[in-house]
Amino acid sequence: MVIRRTAALALAIFAVAAAPSSQSTRDIAFTGVRLIDGTDRPPIDSATIVVRDGRITAVGRNVSAPAGARVVSLAGKTVIPGLVNAHGHVGDTQGLEANHYSAENVARDLRLYAAYGVTTVVSLGGDQAASFRARDAQNTPSLDRSRIFLAGPVLAPKSPDDARKLVAEDQALKVDIVKIRVDDNLGTTPKMPPDVYRAVIDEAHKRGLRVAVHLFYLADAKAVLDAGADFIAHSIRDTAVDDEVIAALKKRNVCVCPTLMREVSTFVYESTPSFFSDPFFLAHADRQVVDALRDPARQTAMRESRSAQRYKAALDVAEKNLKKLSDSGVTIAMGTDTGPPARFQGYFEQMELELMAKSGLSPRQVLAAATRDAARCMKLDRDLGTLEPGKWADFVALDADPLVDILNTRKIDSVWIGGNQVVKSR
Ligand SMILES: [Zn+2]
Repeated sequence: MVIRRTAALALAIFAVAAAPSSQSTRDIAFTGVRLIDGTDRPPIDSATIVVRDGRITAVGRNVSAPAGARVVSLAGKTVIPGLVNAHGHVGDTQGLEANHYSAENVARDLRLYAAYGVTTVVSLGGDQAASFRARDAQNTPSLDRSRIFLAGPVLAPKSPDDARKLVAEDQALKVDIVKIRVDDNLGTTPKMPPDVYRAVIDEAHKRGLRVAVHLFYLADAKAVLDAGADFIAHSIRDTAVDDEVIAALKKRNVCVCPTLMREVSTFVYESTPSFFSDPFFLAHADRQVVDALRDPARQTAMRESRSAQRYKAALDVAEKNLKKLSDSGVTIAMGTDTGPPARFQGYFEQMELELMAKSGLSPRQVLAAATRDAARCMKLDRDLGTLEPGKWADFVALDADPLVDILNTRKIDSVWIGGNQVVKSR
């Protein structure tokens, strides 16, 4: 698979050569589509999607291409909304090291997500100026990479006063959501005290901001929900979810983001994972990183790591909890916590879908969590998450139907963002 930007480039060149106004209003009609629009409607065969200035203007079976439209046949393809990762990280990793944030890495990561059909990522922390610039520049019909929304710095205040000051700074930065951690990293670090996270959440709400919380324990989930937390950024993984937490989540429709692949990444390199021989993975994986993760000494260290083995057990708890939460009507937002070293952006989102299905969710439920619901949970659903008039034309054309087998989301024919082709697999 290669990332091609020829279409966008050609459009850009044409726009310079011809009158920009006529170019910018030109329609594109995608025809012959089997459409899974991301709503609860059943798939529509032989549908047409009409796009103007990056957004869908009409979609459905009884839609015809407007006169003068550029017609793109997607006959035989199944089209789904672009995947939305509600918990990633962008721009910070170089090789196997973190803390190498740069504008180049931001651009690299957003192209990488796009290559795997993840057309939107919410970066939940560690975001610096280049990521804010990328977000602020993406409301354009010529976009050629995934969209980013962000939390800015992960807040780690030391007192309630400090908490209110940092939230004010977050607001000045224009973050999309506030991010905090309420965790002791398996008992190794101090946990943010309740009076501090209560101040964060209270101050955020006063300023019209929402708060995403990293957590691990059921008791903390209940406590932060009681304090008004708006988004649970990881699975509860110490023990089984109970009726009390389910009721608390449903009362305010707080979404849970399972990030099952985060757990996987903590132990999977204790040996050479099978996906290291998957061409779909190798198409974009950093070979130096892959080679480093094959190193026997590194694998032994992970095998003997107590935390790795505890997180392995936590994955099992998380999967059972995902099924129970979903069955109970809690809204699930697909997310992975990709971006840190050895958490491969794009490919891990594809694996996350597989793990969600293995946890007992139907392909339709998995797809909803990864499109409409993730967008809704992050308050992006006015523009994203489904293929309906008025929304950005961010979609993935597949060679097979993911409602039959969720693994079919890997059979990518092409990826389109704002109606621009950003990936061509043939
Ligand atoms: Zn994270």
